[in-house]
Amino acid sequence: MTKQTEGTLSAAALADLDRKHVVHPCLDSSITDRVVMVRGQGSRLWDANGKEYLDGSGGLSVVTVGHGRQELAEIAAQQMQELAYFTSFWQFSNDKAVILAKRLAELAPSGISKVFYTNGGSEGMETAIKAARLHHYRTGQPQRKWILSREYSYHGVGYGGLTVTGAEYYHHPSFGSGIANVHHLSAPYPFHKERYDGQPITDYLVAELEATIQRLGAENIAAMVGESIISHKAALVAPDDYWPRMRAVLRRHGILMIADEVVTGFGRTGTWFASEAVGMEPDIIVTAKAITSGYMPFGAVLMRDDIGDSVASENGFAHGFTYNGHPVACAVALGTLSILEEESLISDVARKGNLLRAQLAPLLENPLVGEVRGIGLSTGIEFVADPVKKTPFTFQGGGLAEILREDYGVIGRGVGPLAILTPPFVITDDEIGRMTDAVKAAVARLRPDGRFRG
Ligand code: PLP
Repeated sequence: MTKQTEGTLSAAALADLDRKHVVHPCLDSSITDRVVMVRGQGSRLWDANGKEYLDGSGGLSVVTVGHGRQELAEIAAQQMQELAYFTSFWQFSNDKAVILAKRLAELAPSGISKVFYTNGGSEGMETAIKAARLHHYRTGQPQRKWILSREYSYHGVGYGGLTVTGAEYYHHPSFGSGIANVHHLSAPYPFHKERYDGQPITDYLVAELEATIQRLGAENIAAMVGESIISHKAALVAPDDYWPRMRAVLRRHGILMIADEVVTGFGRTGTWFASEAVGMEPDIIVTAKAITSGYMPFGAVLMRDDIGDSVASENGFAHGFTYNGHPVACAVALGTLSILEEESLISDVARKGNLLRAQLAPLLENPLVGEVRGIGLSTGIEFVADPVKKTPFTFQGGGLAEILREDYGVIGRGVGPLAILTPPFVITDDEIGRMTDAVKAAVARLRPDGRFRG
């Protein structure tokens, strides 16, 4: 047995070492507290101090089948013994990658049966942008380079994905200008109707899209990238007619639709693929996160057959990752998809999500709460400083997520004036009740100055 002395370190020692050595994404180093998780089971987590938490986040909207699944650990261990790694470059493949691709093709919307594996969503977005441009290049339209995206969106941190990302935080000036030929459109934001000059939201946004296509030239545009719901803006749900009407315009102009389903893929909104449900009719679907419920870092880009064919033609797709089609990740993904099916987890997502939002609805009596929104097990709360002007609320000191974690043992996510809840699909009705009680209790303590009472 390998010696694992670190496993015996105290909680305080682990936190010290973390502060000393680990560079965390999106953490200001002046924030010194650390929550070092050591165990998970179902929708519950335990930190190194033994404190128990209810996971209202799924990590980063990742965990679906719950923490601590013995069967997935066994699948991984078995696969490591059979074949832990080999490349998928050139003509090499492995049995699990092949079987998973067939499974994904069965689940995907019809006409989408080509699969390119990645290690996560950012790699998936780089892959999708390149695939869209390469497809046009190889089908006689090499000038189609522009990628349309939307404000507020998040599509990963590679230079391609970062450039199409609308969320401003990630665009640090030191990072440089990103890739060329990217344009951001306005996002549908029903809570802020005042942004659309008094017009119906979809009319405004479709007109903006048409004007943009006119200006850039349809013949120069490769694709539009979008999420069915803008997850990072607290589950921003578009009006029902938004995607069908946007899609119709894109189709008329030969512009491909890349659906970013990194958060929504594999059930989070109550269907296998959210893009299909909202009428995006995607040509390329980027998935990651829930494909393995976080048991392995992994992702898959699903492509319309002719796009997969053209990127693989001539001298192939000059793009790939060392861990493409990783056998252990593919085996774990197959196991995860089986659990989702065998336990009918996706079919209960809509009900659980509706229950969660119904229990949060009384929050709206608080003038600081502007909206509770979402779909399936993706729920957002938007706080407002002024309920009439809907100006964004600013939390002072520990935001809602910190209060929930520290005082109520509930892990949620807070981004600016927004709170986001994306629990595992296995969360029970009782746990939903505990979580929403905690949110209501914490929000009841919120003062207009952004601090919490007590
Ligand atoms: N796209 C969306 C919608 C995401 O939410 C994320 C990550 O949160 C990404 C892309 C990037 O995925 P990853 O962090 O796995 O690279």
